[in-house]
Amino acid sequence: MSRARSEQAKADFFGQTALITGAASGIGRLMALAFAREGARVIVVDLNGEGAAEVASEISNRGGEAWSFQADLSDPAAITRLKSAVTTDAGPIDILVNNAGIVFGGSFESVPLERHLKTMRVNSEAMITMTYAFFDDLTRSRDAHIVNIASAAGYLGVPFGTSYAASKWAAIGFSESLRQEFIECGRENIAVTTVCPGYIATGMFDGVRSPMLGKPMTPTFIVEKIMEGVKLRQPFVKEPFIVKTTDVLRAVLPLNWQIRTSQLLGLSDSMRSWKGH
Ligand code: NAD
Repeated sequence: MSRARSEQAKADFFGQTALITGAASGIGRLMALAFAREGARVIVVDLNGEGAAEVASEISNRGGEAWSFQADLSDPAAITRLKSAVTTDAGPIDILVNNAGIVFGGSFESVPLERHLKTMRVNSEAMITMTYAFFDDLTRSRDAHIVNIASAAGYLGVPFGTSYAASKWAAIGFSESLRQEFIECGRENIAVTTVCPGYIATGMFDGVRSPMLGKPMTPTFIVEKIMEGVKLRQPFVKEPFIVKTTDVLRAVLPLNWQIRTSQLLGLSDSMRSWKGH
């Protein structure tokens, strides 16, 4: 656990505390740095405790205020311990970014069952458990925000990535239901942003081939879009552009056309060559 602090210029998230899961690497790390740049106090959480501590130091070296915590979010008891440690060391949070995620590519039967189930635990169940654990903090904040990192895979069938897609469908369903429940309950202080990116060049999806979709997005590009979306309290961030069309395509195309389109775009077997982490 590490902590560092210093003066911060007034910025969009000044005075707010943002907790980001899976922030030791990839887009989680970039979001942690971006929130810090925008004036937030940042809590960096990851299974990789050393990596999380490095990100917290990076923030403090740039004049921000950050804490790091090691936690395996697939374990609900670890989340209970995390909540208690965060409250003691950093106090209540205003922004929760559920970003930690894992993927295992391969045909359904070739991926060990434990990996399928672990994917659900990290990508879906941890999102729900973290939101539950920090819910009181969020209800008390005047300007709270839940940012759930789902995926374009949460709208589509993804052959050779079955449990990953299932976990992201769950993430989208959870986020959409929560946002509507907040409206029903008059909890206008809590925004929910659901992030649905296509492939990003972080290494998680190394080896995937999707020639018709072009290159994966850069982590910097998607994090800029996420930060814009969060500042504007947008319900969705969907990138690249083709992801914005998914709802319409699913509504108007018969199922066999949807499958054909996915085949033509090279999406249907893009995960066959997955070698990522
Ligand atoms: P990444 O592997 O760099 O980041 C994932 C982070 O989650 C890692 O730091 C990892 O240590 C952490 N993590 C994994 N299991 C954990 C656990 N049990 N407890 C705590 N932390 C854990 O990958 P990334 O591309 O930055 O992915 C971030 C998010 O974006 C994920 O939810 C991913 O599904 C989503 N996403 C990624 C892509 C892509 O193409 N890379 C596309 C769409 C959505």
